[in-house]
Amino acid sequence: MQFVLASHNQKKLAELSVILNGLGIEILPLPEQAPEPEENGTTFEENARIKAKSAADFTGLPAIADDSGLCVDALDGAPGIYSARYCAGTDQDRNAFLLQNMQGQENRTCRFVCAAACVLPDGETITVRGECEGELLCESRGAGGFGYDPLFYVPSHGCTFGELPGEVKNEISHRGRALRKLREALELRMQDTGFENG
Ligand code: IMP
Repeated sequence: MQFVLASHNQKKLAELSVILNGLGIEILPLPEQAPEPEENGTTFEENARIKAKSAADFTGLPAIADDSGLCVDALDGAPGIYSARYCAGTDQDRNAFLLQNMQGQENRTCRFVCAAACVLPDGETITVRGECEGELLCESRGAGGFGYDPLFYVPSHGCTFGELPGEVKNEISHRGRALRKLREALELRMQDTGFENG
């Protein structure tokens, strides 16, 4: 059975395909002509559902979408759902802006959050969430990953996301956790209704 991923990101497609391997599901990329829905939800879950529904409506296929971001406790959860558009410019600019807003803050606890939504063939939607706890450093460490990775220190591993090999990050990351939960939910659903046969 074919599902569409509501993203043009090839890396996300590859990661999701590995995690859903063995379920009899083929993941297709979003067609280039697909509209970009306005992400006007107030939660990660709502935005993931908006993207999944838009992709399902456009393609006529069941669809999967994710929405993620960094939530910093001292900033009341900012940048949160606005992580990608926290300020104009590059990832480096956003990291600098975040550090500026955190000046003088002693509480550095934060977490990455990812919601994944899946519009099933019968139109029902499954939504799951994965989180990864960390601490915001005062300066960048590591050249790997993307976005806020170099500032995100993971106490359990003694380094930042930017210093972790990609496969280790996938094991503990918010996105990895959310997508594995989605796999479990889809497996349960298949046992109940057998939708894997279309
Ligand atoms: P998206 O929902 O996957 O597009 O992510 C939204 C934004 O959240 C990204 O542009 C990044 O700024 C931030 N973000 C989400 N996941 C990560 C991550 O794993 N590392 C670093 N930044 C992330």
